[in-house]
Amino acid sequence: MQRTIKIKLNPTQKKKDEILSTMKVYQETVNRFINKFSGYKYLDKLNYKCLYKPKNKDKRIASNYSTNALAYAVTLLNKRLDLIRKECKARIYNHITNKEERHYLFYLLKQPKYIQAIMLRKEFVVDKEFDVRQEYLNKYIHRILRHEFKNNNTPELKKPLLRTDVVTANIQEYKDSKHFSHIIKLSTINKGTRVIIPFNPNKWALKLFSKRKGCFIVCPDEKGKLNLHIPIEEEIKENNNVQEIGIDKGFRKLIVDSNKQKYGEDWNKLEKKLDNKFQKKQKQRNKLYGLKTELYKKWTETKDKKIYKKIKHLEKYNLSKKKFNNNKVKTKETIKNNVNKVVNSFVSKNPKLKTIVLEKLGRFNKNKYGRKSNRLLNQWKRGFLKDKLTFISQLNSIELAYQNPAYTSQECLNCGYPDRRNRNSERFTCIKCGFKEDADVNGAMNILKRKYDQEISLYTPYKQVKEILLKRYSDGVIKPPRLEKLNSVKSCESYKQPLQEQNIILATGGESFNSSPQ
Ligand SMILES: [Zn+2]
Repeated sequence: MQRTIKIKLNPTQKKKDEILSTMKVYQETVNRFINKFSGYKYLDKLNYKCLYKPKNKDKRIASNYSTNALAYAVTLLNKRLDLIRKECKARIYNHITNKEERHYLFYLLKQPKYIQAIMLRKEFVVDKEFDVRQEYLNKYIHRILRHEFKNNNTPELKKPLLRTDVVTANIQEYKDSKHFSHIIKLSTINKGTRVIIPFNPNKWALKLFSKRKGCFIVCPDEKGKLNLHIPIEEEIKENNNVQEIGIDKGFRKLIVDSNKQKYGEDWNKLEKKLDNKFQKKQKQRNKLYGLKTELYKKWTETKDKKIYKKIKHLEKYNLSKKKFNNNKVKTKETIKNNVNKVVNSFVSKNPKLKTIVLEKLGRFNKNKYGRKSNRLLNQWKRGFLKDKLTFISQLNSIELAYQNPAYTSQECLNCGYPDRRNRNSERFTCIKCGFKEDADVNGAMNILKRKYDQEISLYTPYKQVKEILLKRYSDGVIKPPRLEKLNSVKSCESYKQPLQEQNIILATGGESFNSSPQ
């Protein structure tokens, strides 16, 4: 598994400026290549060999960087294509039941030339024989591909950076120096000259240094300091566990799991504190902005030099972007550290973990946690949580099983009735059967249950989910006599049977709960 180590670089200002301007041109070059080759007609040529031609070179940048930028653009475009493929595959799994038809569709997806022909609505002949409804399936795959191409925007290098290779960057040991152990030599926009920056990897980085693999990336961090990112290959731990846990991102806590454990319980306090600080700063700033506009108005009328000085002072000391950004960075860092801590404790407390079952956040439930909480803070929290879960699951070979989140917070775990009124902030009380539970625990258990739901898949539309749930309730598929026992069940092992099987058990009085460990 790939991860990166970060090393701080401290070049002189002159060297830094040179690198920064190189980055800028490099970024523009990559983005230009992406735009040039993002069309469907290049889909079957997305490799360096096909696109590398002298006429595709960007003359403003050293030839090595130009080729490098092209390779990077190709990588990013291919990553997007892979994502699109993956999403399409998931859809096909959910909609197409016939094995041969699935096989046909996967075969088409595998080869870019078919995707290209489908997207350009060109005739094509598949070089393998399939006994399927080709015309229908071609239309179907066109539809889902178009959808996914729309969903996954053309990639863009949003921040300036330098992705280097063996030609453009070189790291050497620097034994003679008392202060630095290594140097990096970087090519820049100025052809023929190299910037040399000495640096010191810390002990931890040094240990991983030998595992380095692939391109270095040099880029500025949020505070504007240059960092060297070194990709390393880390061995993945084997995982022979079987335990499955559903998690919900809690209302006041960060994570609540289907075993009724809560992690990051003081999250709400932290968020409030950060939010208050944030809003206070924002208010102050708005006031000062108001003052500045007023002063500016006065100045245009009077041209008074004193007023002009005041404006400049305000800009420099009170409204500086730098201060504000530093604040943002700090807040972000606090959130990130907390998220990491919470996820680490969740994983270490569940050493037998094989699968984490969680909701897939879509467009419709982005604001699930209310409008009151700060949107920006929430956005960061969600992002960090997703990143950390992905990272830790890769490292420990834990599977992340994403589920359709529709109504998981409103559905009653006991009788199955979905209703908004069942949930009252942190408490869940079913209006039909009176079942009581912590609202987040109820959610986490419902999410785990979804994994075994044969009717509700990841792509079942929101409205349809409600219809299915209501039908189940009125059909009496899930009946309330379970109430007493359910409240005393510690884990929800019994949910791991497919729904069909569960029905049979439930119809005979829900005895399965007696057999679960108390
Ligand atoms: Zn109920």
